Amino acid sequence: MATQKKEGPRLDFFSDWKYSPAPESKEHIRLNKKYDLFINGKWQKPTGSKYFATHNPATEEKLAEVADAGEKDVDAAVQAARSAYEKTWRKMPGRERGKYIYRIARMIQERARELSVIETMDGGKSIRESRDIDVPLAASHFFYYAGWADKLDYAFPNRKPTPLGVAGQIIPWNFPLLMAAWKIAPALACGNTVVLKPAETTPLTALKLAEIIQDSGLPDGVVNIITGAGKTGAAIVNHPHVNKVAFTGSTDVGRIIQKAVAGTAKRVTLELGGKAANIIFEDAAIDQAVEGIVNGIYFNQGHVCCAGSRLFVQEGVADLVIRKLKDRMETLIVGDPLDKNTDVGAINSKQQLQVITNYIQIGKEGGAEFYQSSCELPKKGYFVRPTLFLNVSQSHRIVQEEIFGPVLAVQTFRTIEEVIEKANNIPYGLSAGVWTDKGSKIFNLTGKLRAGVIWANTYNKFDPTSPFGGYKESGFGREGGVHGLLPYLSL
Ligand code: NAP
Ligand code: MG
Repeated sequence: MATQKKEGPRLDFFSDWKYSPAPESKEHIRLNKKYDLFINGKWQKPTGSKYFATHNPATEEKLAEVADAGEKDVDAAVQAARSAYEKTWRKMPGRERGKYIYRIARMIQERARELSVIETMDGGKSIRESRDIDVPLAASHFFYYAGWADKLDYAFPNRKPTPLGVAGQIIPWNFPLLMAAWKIAPALACGNTVVLKPAETTPLTALKLAEIIQDSGLPDGVVNIITGAGKTGAAIVNHPHVNKVAFTGSTDVGRIIQKAVAGTAKRVTLELGGKAANIIFEDAAIDQAVEGIVNGIYFNQGHVCCAGSRLFVQEGVADLVIRKLKDRMETLIVGDPLDKNTDVGAINSKQQLQVITNYIQIGKEGGAEFYQSSCELPKKGYFVRPTLFLNVSQSHRIVQEEIFGPVLAVQTFRTIEEVIEKANNIPYGLSAGVWTDKGSKIFNLTGKLRAGVIWANTYNKFDPTSPFGGYKESGFGREGGVHGLLPYLSL
C-alpha cells in the first residue's frame, strides 16, 4: 500500500525578496529595417514586393520587416539549390564539405551573444534559454555533423550512401535557430542542398544564419533561406524538384504535408506535436523531480514539443509533490525575457496567447482544480502565469491536446501498470520523463512507454549525438545522431 511521506516545513521566505533587474544589453544588436530573401548566395527582393513585420512579443514592438516569398521566389530558391547540388556540392569530397560546416559552427559560436539576444527579442524566450541552450546546441549540431561529412562510408559500411538532392525544410517558432541547425547541418553533411523556411513570427535568427552562411564562403545556392507564411511552406513542399521534405511543426500541418507528398518520390520526415508524461514515483528524489517538472513545462513557457505537460504522481507523494511544486511556482520570475533572472519569458505571439487562454478556460469549465502562481505580469506583451490543473481525468481536453503553453495537467496513479496505460493513452508519443530511485523501474518503463525520447531523473536534455523523434501522431523520422543522417541519404 502507498505510504504518505511526511511534509517538511513550508519555505515561505523566498517570496519575500526580489532580484534586481539584470537585463542583457541589446546595444550591440544590428537589425536591418527590411530583410530580403537569401537565394543563390545573394539577398533578393521578393517578386511580389510584399513584406511582413516580425515583432518582439515581450514589448509588442516591431523589430523588422521580412520578405513574403511567393511561388516564383520558391521556384528561384529551388532552382538555385538544384544547380548548386549538380554543379558543386554533390561532387565535393566529404572532407571539403565538412570544412564549410565546421566554419559555420565556429561563426555561430563567435556571434553567440548576438544570436541569443535576437532569438530572445524575436521569439520571447528567456535569454537564459537562448544563451545556454538554443545557441550552443545549434553550434554543436553543426560541429557534430561536420564530423560525419567525410565518414558516411563508415556510418553505413558497404551501402554506398548517396545524397538525395534538394531538401525543402520548414521549421516552427519555438527553437528557430536550433531547428534550422537540426535541419541544415545533416543535410549538408550528406551532400544535399537546402531551401529553408523559418516560421512567420521568428524569422530573424535564420536570416542572421544566412549572413553567417554568406560570410562562411559556402558555395552560392547550397543553402537558401526564404521567409514567408504557410503558403510559402506549401510551395516548397509541392515543388516538383524538391527531393526531400523535412518538417517540424504541428500535427495538423504535418497531415497536410503527408497528403501533399503522397504518390510522389519525395522523401519526408515529420517532427510534430507532443503531450509528454512526466512520471514521479514515490521513491524519487522529490526536490529534483519538482525541479524537473518546472524545467519541463515552465522554464520555456511550455513552448516545447516535448514539454512535460502531463504530470503523473504516485499517490503516496502526491500531496508533497504538489505542495513543493506550488511553492516553487511562486518563486518563478515571469517577465522581461532579456533579464538574466527571468525564468518564464513571453508567449511567442498574440495568437498563441489566445490558444493558451482558451485552453485554460476549457480546463476550468471541465471542472479541473485550477492553480496559478500569484506573480504580476508585465503590462505590455504576451504573458501567462505558470498554471496547474489538478484532479484531471484522461478524458479532459487539457490532458489529450497539445496546449504549447505553461499549463500542467496533474493526475495521480497507484501502480506502474496504471501509469503506463494512462501515459500511452493519447494520440502523441514524442517524449516522457521518469523519476525513480530504481534503475529496474526505469528500464521497465522505457520499454513500455510509446515515446521516442524518455528521460530518466532529468528532463529536456539534448545532445547532437542522440536521435530525437516521435511515435504515433508525433511524426516519424529521427533527427540527431547517426540516425539523423538516414533521412538525407539513399543507401
Ligand atoms: P505550424 O503551425 O505547423 O508551423 C510550422 C511551420 O510550417 C511554420 O514555418 C509554418 O509557417 C509552416 N506552415 C504552415 N502551414 C503550412 C503548410 N500548409 N505547408 C507547409 N508549411 C506550412 O507549427 P508552429 O505553430 O510553428 O509550431 C508549433 C508546433 O511545432 C507544435 O505542435 C510543436 O509540438 C511542434 N514542434 C515539434 C517539434 C518536434 O521535434 N517534434 C519541435 C518543435 C516544435 P508559418 O509560421 O508562416 O505559419
Ligand atoms: Mg517575432
